[in-house]
Amino acid sequence: MARILDGKQIASELKENIALEIAKLKEQSIVPGLAVVLVGEDPASKVYVGHKEKACQALGIHSEVIRLAETITTQELLVQIKQLNQRSDIHGILVQLPLPQQLDEQRIIESVSPDKDVDGFHPINVGLLSLGRKTFVPCTPRGIMEMLKFSAIDVAGKHAVIIGRSNIVGKPLAALLLAQNATVTVCHSHTVNLAQVTKEADILIAAVGKGRFVTENMVKQGAIIIDVGINREGKKLVGDVDFDEVEQVASAITPVPGGVGPLTIMMLMANTIEAAKRRALCNKAK
Ligand code: NDP
Repeated sequence: MARILDGKQIASELKENIALEIAKLKEQSIVPGLAVVLVGEDPASKVYVGHKEKACQALGIHSEVIRLAETITTQELLVQIKQLNQRSDIHGILVQLPLPQQLDEQRIIESVSPDKDVDGFHPINVGLLSLGRKTFVPCTPRGIMEMLKFSAIDVAGKHAVIIGRSNIVGKPLAALLLAQNATVTVCHSHTVNLAQVTKEADILIAAVGKGRFVTENMVKQGAIIIDVGINREGKKLVGDVDFDEVEQVASAITPVPGGVGPLTIMMLMANTIEAAKRRALCNKAK
């Protein structure tokens, strides 16, 4: 039976450190502020934004949700983001994705000030990450790295296989693992003989978006399994990994829910605090 990597537990321990950081900032009269821009009525987005709001409230981070109509134009949304960029009480800005079809997603992502880009999606921050420089790291990959570190799993020299090459998960995670000296393979929908590749993995990360996609025959005995997927099966949430099967062969595995998800939210809090600290340093330097 595999060791369960309990994301909830790890997130609650990290929360204590984050709370200390917030207390230190408050001693300097700085209250970290996060603005979340939510466009339209996507039910999953509403749930995620609700979780983010709750986490901010629990930690004493000022949070604002800017709720905008589904029919908003790119120009109108750009005006909203410009205003948030200019506000001194808002340190972090997150635009909840996906956006409605009519909006120019890339232009909107690029309109967020790189200094407030707590999602780490701005091309400047993406570039810095790929150069191995200090920057805002996208929350899910950062959460996965924290989880591995917290669980005393050293990635150096290990073969990490990622299924999925999205800008949100797969690509930034590959950069982070590489920076920690893992040997990294990134798979996608055109990968030939996927199971043959995934069977080579010491650490297998599934970010596919297909429920129970990774089955026992795709996993090497003793592998470490990180399941990023969140898929609905009726009322139940399941990951991209067939947990019951894969648990039998893995040495460690994340559950869904309660694995990567709680860490993603905690890393958003951490990035918001980093943004507030950056601003404080800039103000001091003036
Ligand atoms: P995307 O849809 O952007 O990317 C999915 C990736 O999987 C693509 O690279 C795609 O390949 C690849 N893929 C699809 N089918 C196959 C296949 N048959 N074989 C191999 N590769 C395949 O998803 P995201 O990265 O945004 O998210 C992935 C999952 O993680 C989703 O379930 C999402 O809900 C979840 N998620 C969870 C988070 C959390 O906090 N726990 C945060 C973010 C996401 P190609 O590029 O060729 O199309």
